Amino acid sequence: MANCRLCGEKAGWFKDVHPACIEAVNAGVAEIKSAVTSAVEQIAQGGTPTIQSSIEQVIADKRIPRESANAAIVESWSASVTEVSLREPLPVEKQTAFIKLTEQLGFTQQELSKTDGFRSAVFSMLLWALTNDVTELYANNMSHSPFNCEPGDLPIMFFGSVVYSQETTTRSRVGGYGGLSVRVAPGVYSHFGGFKGQQVERVAMKEIDYGGMLLTTGAMYFGGEHTTFRIAFDNIISFRAQEDGIGFSRKTGHGIPEVFSVLQPDKDGKPTPAPAMFGWFLFNATQLLASKKRSTS
Ligand SMILES: [Zn+2]
Repeated sequence: MANCRLCGEKAGWFKDVHPACIEAVNAGVAEIKSAVTSAVEQIAQGGTPTIQSSIEQVIADKRIPRESANAAIVESWSASVTEVSLREPLPVEKQTAFIKLTEQLGFTQQELSKTDGFRSAVFSMLLWALTNDVTELYANNMSHSPFNCEPGDLPIMFFGSVVYSQETTTRSRVGGYGGLSVRVAPGVYSHFGGFKGQQVERVAMKEIDYGGMLLTTGAMYFGGEHTTFRIAFDNIISFRAQEDGIGFSRKTGHGIPEVFSVLQPDKDGKPTPAPAMFGWFLFNATQLLASKKRSTS
């Protein structure tokens, strides 16, 4: 006779768990997820929820294994923080409150830094900081820059694994890209929903180099195995949405489409195209910076 692995009581022949105990765990997990999701929503509305004791109560009452409880917390936190962060630029107080919420539940920033929620909250907060000129938020974000930046180019974010490509053939622009293509205009903000809904067509692009890309307030810097260059925002005539990066054309050089594609390690460490929130961030950040550049020069 085996004992139930959830409640420890006898479970009967050839069984190591009671069906009722499994049901209780599943119900408890759902309860945890909805508590976390509603806490994130409350913070988004300006509230300051405390959910630690009620979650501990659910874990104890429903005999939820700690691992399952933690997985449910991280999963629901990440999904709901992503949703809120992509809605509109996130004020830094709210980003901080999202982190505090998980600290309340016993997690460290380190444990969460690889989640979509953590990343989209940082991206969204940076867009907020750029919009409101809260320089210290992005300056603090970059401890050191791998490039020797020109005066006035404040580093915002470094992408360490980037493919630089150019369109190889001249082609008619009519009906070319199905993606968002905008001239640099002030006050343009692309919502993630609309962004994700766009079909971003991939045309014949030739990979030119692989390296790192630094986004600064005045320009993008690229340093690869073969080339290193700086592209000032005032030398860019248009930006194109790219799910995993940013597409652009310069004023000079016949405006040949160029693309930075960001790579991220997957769970096995293999480089794969970055999730769409990277493209969403780069698209909004570059437009914002370019329009600021134009209004100050
Ligand atoms: Zn049991």
